[in-house]
Amino acid sequence: MSMVFQGRGVSEGMAMGAVFLLAQQTLKAPDTPARDPETEVEQFEAAMARTQARLQDLYDQACRKLGKKEAEIFDAHLTFLQDEYSVSMPIEELIRADKLTAAQAVQRQFDALADMFRALDDELMSERAADAEDLKQQLLRAILGLPEQDVTRLDQDVILLADELMPSDTVRMDVSHVVGLATRLGGVTAHTAVIARTLGIPAVVGLTGWEAQVENGAQAILDGTTGRLIVAPSREEQEACAAARAEAERQTQELAAFRNRPTVTSDGVHVGLFANIGSPEEAGTSAALGAEGVGLFRSEFLFMDREDLPTEEEQFCAYRKALEAMGGKPVVVRTLDVGGDKKLPALPLPREDNPFLGCRAIRMTLKRPDLFRPQLRALLRASAYGTLHIMFPMISGLGELRAAKAMLEQERRQLQGDGVPMGPVKVGIMVEIPAAAVMADQFAKEVDFFSIGTNDLIQYTLAAERGNEHVADLYTAYHPAVLRLIAATAKAARDNGILCGMCGEAAGDARLTAALVGMGLGELSMSPRLIPKLRKLLSEWTMDQCRQRAEELLSLPDEAAVKRYLEQAG
Ligand code: PEP
Ligand code: MG
Repeated sequence: MSMVFQGRGVSEGMAMGAVFLLAQQTLKAPDTPARDPETEVEQFEAAMARTQARLQDLYDQACRKLGKKEAEIFDAHLTFLQDEYSVSMPIEELIRADKLTAAQAVQRQFDALADMFRALDDELMSERAADAEDLKQQLLRAILGLPEQDVTRLDQDVILLADELMPSDTVRMDVSHVVGLATRLGGVTAHTAVIARTLGIPAVVGLTGWEAQVENGAQAILDGTTGRLIVAPSREEQEACAAARAEAERQTQELAAFRNRPTVTSDGVHVGLFANIGSPEEAGTSAALGAEGVGLFRSEFLFMDREDLPTEEEQFCAYRKALEAMGGKPVVVRTLDVGGDKKLPALPLPREDNPFLGCRAIRMTLKRPDLFRPQLRALLRASAYGTLHIMFPMISGLGELRAAKAMLEQERRQLQGDGVPMGPVKVGIMVEIPAAAVMADQFAKEVDFFSIGTNDLIQYTLAAERGNEHVADLYTAYHPAVLRLIAATAKAARDNGILCGMCGEAAGDARLTAALVGMGLGELSMSPRLIPKLRKLLSEWTMDQCRQRAEELLSLPDEAAVKRYLEQAG
């Protein structure tokens, strides 16, 4: 019998593969009766051996990649596990005398150790308590036969199932075999959703109920349109999935004709359809998919999945590579945007109660010239190799913009003095805080372009956190307040003769495309896979029709009316 779980589809398409449970939840020993004590002891010993071998391997790897100091934690864990009096002897005793399973005995003993360390109320001892918790999880994982968290090398097609995917998980995953992503948490613009759309992988978020039921390795179908996960699908369900995939493939072929054309409305007005990317390699694939430029290079991805910070030279090479891959087409690189939900291993930031309202993006980089200046220099040096635009994220006031521009200018002068070749660089801002949208007429006098970041603009306008499934129904680009801020920003740009683009997820929403163009957006930047579809769509509209649609949409009183209108108008 198949099992069906329902979530929110955030990246269209159907996937079929084996479930890969990315076990981030805290494991608990199952409440099952114990087998005979010798079998349980054997299982415990095998798990101990596997865990020790793994720790040794992690230690060796960490020594090589990060140095001995960083590797110490694994050595400390090994020593802890090898302490017979605290670990193997009492656990075997619990199995034999109390008739516990290996998992239950491990849990009981490590909980007791953690409690004991905690009771000592000393900083060092509370670290030991955390070590005990960590080792308990590792041993339980080994006993229960759960997979390693390693998604870097997969040997079959998998649907990743997790509580939540962190950027560091997705940066590491083996994309040739991950065919679907599903998470318990998250909304439409959570990291999982964005990355899935970029990679063209079906994805579902807010998927619940599977936690205790779905086994690792079970065959499953993920439907990124309806938001359904079907585990152990019937033959008919498998056939329906295969048919849907064949139809999607047929549509992709049909749209291939739109890949290498410029984007023009039916009355000949050009609109730029650009790509959002996170690595220089994606620039190459975007160009192949028909992107007319890169509208958003999220530079923070260069800083993720590594234990140190990229040097100026490394960044220079990455930006240069992206520019060269685009062969003279514009590339908008956004300066480091960390904080909020984006964390860097190499840059621990202070804990904040409300990180989305905290010291993120430009607020952080202005305080950390040691990070910001090398990035600006790397960008300026790369500008000699293509058409570079630099964009500052999370600008809320003119002061921030001026400070960032001043630093950029200082670095430019310095490089010029050193005789370093540079090309002309346009400077723009993300309009993703309502304050910037409201004050767009002032900003427009001091920048070359705007790019509207609806992912954040929605959350700050509607006070609905972008990744929070409890307010996912409130978080929508269809709220008239969001639409009016977009229109006002575009108007301010037009009045001041600068370009206004959009690089938030709403830019790829086919239902909004005509209205956005009608509001005056001249560039839409999105997952490059969406480009051919939107190019075809725009070729069927005149500019007057787009303007009329924008006008009608902007006159509606609430989100429900906007939704109704878009459904009826098609
Ligand atoms: C946005 O906020 O719309 C955006 C494009 O940036 P990010 O999703 O990286 O915050
Ligand atoms: Mg943003």
